[in-house]
Amino acid sequence: MRLILLGPPGAGKGTQAQRLVEKHGIPQLSTGDMLRAAVAAGTEIGKRAKAVMDAGELVSDDIVNTIISERIDQPDCARGFILDGYPRTLVQADAVEAMLSAKGTKLDSVIELLVDDKALVGRIVKRAEEAAAAGQPVRKDDNPEVFQDRLTEYYKKTAPLTGYYYAKGTLRTVDGMLSIDAVTEEIEAVLASL
Ligand code: AMP
Repeated sequence: MRLILLGPPGAGKGTQAQRLVEKHGIPQLSTGDMLRAAVAAGTEIGKRAKAVMDAGELVSDDIVNTIISERIDQPDCARGFILDGYPRTLVQADAVEAMLSAKGTKLDSVIELLVDDKALVGRIVKRAEEAAAAGQPVRKDDNPEVFQDRLTEYYKKTAPLTGYYYAKGTLRTVDGMLSIDAVTEEIEAVLASL
């Protein structure tokens, strides 16, 4: 199963992706997590990405396309994967389609999580508070000011992907305002219908 979880920052893509990993035994490919790991490790990519990420803007298509292309070649992706936070631009959407088509395969579904903007800010603030309370590092971009820039990037560059996938017939939408369990159920219902 090759799946994309689409939605704005704070929509619950990461949470739902983890549940899908547990249930379906396929990996979650989060470009955000991979980039944060690169920043923490001080790699060349990490150095190039850090300031852009801290400002809530998008890292270049070339960087993330290369990261994903290398990652989906790993053996654990042979049975499928969940893309979380990728693609985020039309260029990336075309790139992933080309990568999969070169392997003789394609995406099975794109699931969009719909969440109100006001709820998103609240979720991001909560995520930062919970991380701090647990003694975990707080993401620099998880604050209301940077969040507005992340949301603007989303509407400018990522939201057009819903039209792109709708036209291809692969888009399914799920009400991301429901409880975490209810969203999981809706996603499983979509997958069962494929
Ligand atoms: P996320 O953890 O998905 O919210 O991503 C955190 C940050 O990493 C984003 O605000 C971007 O700066 C960068 N990033 C993650 N995925 C992508 C992507 N597919 N394209 C461009 N930048 C990305």
